[in-house]
Amino acid sequence: MAHRPRLTVLSGPSGVGKSTVVAHLRKEHPEVWLSVSATTRAPRPGEKHGVQYFFVDDEEFDKLVANGELLEWAEFAGNRYGTPRRAVLDRLEAGESVLLEIDLQGARLVRASMPEARLVFLAPPSWEELVRRLTGRGTEAPEVIERRLAAARTELAAESEFDTTLVNTSVQDVSAELLALMNDE
Ligand code: 5GP
Repeated sequence: MAHRPRLTVLSGPSGVGKSTVVAHLRKEHPEVWLSVSATTRAPRPGEKHGVQYFFVDDEEFDKLVANGELLEWAEFAGNRYGTPRRAVLDRLEAGESVLLEIDLQGARLVRASMPEARLVFLAPPSWEELVRRLTGRGTEAPEVIERRLAAARTELAAESEFDTTLVNTSVQDVSAELLALMNDE
């Protein structure tokens, strides 16, 4: 039997709906284990420490980096984000599946250090839809949205580096497709 890749990385432009897809998948399948990242960005309303992210200050993030505690990390739109290494490796060593939801730079770093990882690109149905989503969230300042749009334009071009593309036409469909990929169907 072929070795089943246990580490799945979901990436794609900001605003494409990665976190919505993952939230839906975990609601339907609580057994899916998602890595909780550390970030220096401020919590959005309703976000809780240890649930969506570990919210840390710059000094704490520096320490995580210096101590080698992050599997990968990247700066995105003025904040830093990173995947805690230990929790992911423990899980993989136990033979369990792991899902990361990270930006493109992080996905590249994971590919370099763990070539067996499966990289999944979440694409928007169209550029117009992505702009609508990025501007419609209403939680970010205009200059933050501008930075995110600029990043998204570059990120869309990276699709060819990925193993698989899923088009986010419906949250239900795409989360089912992601689960099927994780189960190697
Ligand atoms: P947001 O601020 O909207 O929650 O996330 C911004 C971007 O950071 C998203 O593209 C998200 O996937 C990415 N991100 C979240 N956690 C991590 C992480 O641990 N590492 C990397 N490289 N990117 C992350």
